[in-house]
Amino acid sequence: MKWKNRTESKNVQDNRGKSMAGKTAIGGGLLGIIAMLLVVFGGETGQQIAPVLEQLNQGNTTEQVETRTLSSEEVEMGKMVSVMFKDTEDVWHAIFDQMGQIYQEPKLHLFDDQVQTKCGHAQASVGPFYCPADQTIYMDLRFFEELHQRFGAEKGNFAIAYVLAHEVGHHVQNLMGTNAKVWEQQQLLSKKEANKLSVAQELQADYYAGVWAKHIQKYLEPKDIDIALSAAQAVGDDAIQKRVTGQVNPDSFTHGTSKQRKEWFMKGYQTGNINQGNTFDFIK
Ligand SMILES: [Zn+2]
Repeated sequence: MKWKNRTESKNVQDNRGKSMAGKTAIGGGLLGIIAMLLVVFGGETGQQIAPVLEQLNQGNTTEQVETRTLSSEEVEMGKMVSVMFKDTEDVWHAIFDQMGQIYQEPKLHLFDDQVQTKCGHAQASVGPFYCPADQTIYMDLRFFEELHQRFGAEKGNFAIAYVLAHEVGHHVQNLMGTNAKVWEQQQLLSKKEANKLSVAQELQADYYAGVWAKHIQKYLEPKDIDIALSAAQAVGDDAIQKRVTGQVNPDSFTHGTSKQRKEWFMKGYQTGNINQGNTFDFIK
């Protein structure tokens, strides 16, 4: 994907290279206190603040510690993801405009290892995810190395674009009320039936990723769609189960098979129309 020298999103929070010493992120209250101390102690901030911070941290709050410097490759990757994210904002603004609705932009939070969200504490091992409660997508970008090495996805920046667009797809579902409806219905269903609804929801996010790709066609490079399909192949339930446990159990699928994920991404890419992504009828 062509991304160099293009506009970046203003909704990216980059916390890579920093780790959280505890489980609670800094709250407004603590920041307020720091700001107050800066005023009180004037020019001698660095030395004065640290011990005070330590005392404050004995409570529930935590400081963010710089643990490593990002490599130039990682800095580049951050810029690239930010341009891709801006592209999702532009496309979804246009689509929502056409529907006479307003697209509320989500946030993207890049982190290392673990992160605190309104949906709870998460480890990077869960993979990139979207939290509806804070309308934020969380990603540890090192996931893509694993996707390539462990799950055999082709290497290329459009694997990242596909995953990012899929998570943005969940945000779109959130804005359209789909997530709430699915959740409500799932409460009344058996595990097996509830899983089917999850599959439909995930395949629709893949479809929306395809719709997005169609709308940014002018930035695509020849192999990009193949790379997205290879990533979709890698994250299919059957592919992952086979690799991890050696067996495949369709009743426990929550995201769809590799074949389904590729098909729905392609359908979205071919139509570019969000109204043709009714994966819920398909799954019945
Ligand atoms: Zn998903």
